Amino acid sequence: MDEEGPIRPVEAADNALAVARGVLERAPLFDGHNDLPWVIRTKAPRGDVIAYDLNRVHENADTDIPRLREGMVGAQFWAAFQPTGAPHPARTALEQIDLIRRIEDAHPDVFLAARRAADYARAKARGKIASFIAVEGGVGLENSLSPLRIWHAAGVRLMTLCHNETLDWVDSATDAPRNGGLNAFGRAVVGELNRLGIAVDLAHTSHEAMRRTLDVTEAPVFISHSNAFALCDHPRNAPDDVLRRLKTNGGVVMATFVPGFVSQLLRDWLRRSRDAYGKAPLAADPKAQFAELEASHGRAPKATLQEVADHIVFLVELAGVDNVGVGSDYFGGASPVGLEDVSRFPHLFAELVRRGFSERDLEKISSRNVLRVLRRIEKAGEALRKTRPPAIGRLEDYPGP
Ligand SMILES: [Zn+2]
Repeated sequence: MDEEGPIRPVEAADNALAVARGVLERAPLFDGHNDLPWVIRTKAPRGDVIAYDLNRVHENADTDIPRLREGMVGAQFWAAFQPTGAPHPARTALEQIDLIRRIEDAHPDVFLAARRAADYARAKARGKIASFIAVEGGVGLENSLSPLRIWHAAGVRLMTLCHNETLDWVDSATDAPRNGGLNAFGRAVVGELNRLGIAVDLAHTSHEAMRRTLDVTEAPVFISHSNAFALCDHPRNAPDDVLRRLKTNGGVVMATFVPGFVSQLLRDWLRRSRDAYGKAPLAADPKAQFAELEASHGRAPKATLQEVADHIVFLVELAGVDNVGVGSDYFGGASPVGLEDVSRFPHLFAELVRRGFSERDLEKISSRNVLRVLRRIEKAGEALRKTRPPAIGRLEDYPGP
């Protein structure tokens, strides 16, 4: 979005980075969201994982094996993303799930195909990165409950209910609401995800959809890549009441690096080029529009690593230290100053050391919270499967609000 060479913040001459590395040694980062699968789909011919070659450093992207190692990543939710408006969403979802499985297959020495929380420790013991599959966007269901079970069988363990557009059953944060948050079919989706032991992810849903989901969910939820609305008022960020409810729900909110969700200054600057929901550029040529805005309004403010730390401090204040994690949302594009790529996670934790977090609390934020939530989701699913048959049918079988 606004490239001008990597600027690194002055790293204080303290031992914070050494402390952070110690934390990540004991509790390697479990990152909540990374769009590498979409980058590979769009950059490599036919989405060929082997041709893309994750073993080398990709200077113009943000994620590859050497820098995942440097960043002390111990587990990753990879996003199987499907754009809402594009044709064949169900096929795209399957192709992206398959692409993630091909990443696992292509690098068995690096990635462990993780399907349970316990696989994190197995991966750590073998010096590998636990690879978890997430579906981003319920559009791939094509309004049917059956794909949920097929996705589960294929290894999916988290589903972000929607993306930037409202679906027939759940309202998006960045689109006009049509369902009062979540309608009857939406509640059936949440119930079946609970039953299967797949994490319900509320990143991208409207605030009202977050509330309606928290009313009905039978397991803790994820907000896998969102910040605090109080610090940056983009609708993609979570409001205070939802953050507070995570304490009783037991779920986790994972701070994200998307510059427009981090910095209020940048959010205000970008507002001129976005729709009322803060979504995608309105102009046909966003790059030209960006240059025009810079000419008339001055350089775009940059989000920073320190601002991401501000969000984490605030999220901990409201949701509690047991309910916060990190969901970078690296996607091959813009990222905050100081967090240019996946190698930079230790520097974020060093900043949190400087903010006064204990090592024990940082281990929670790094991975222990997410692992606890995943274990509770697994347990809830086991119990529900004993008492409830699979939910079947399509949108039209679930009339009413
Ligand atoms: Zn997303």
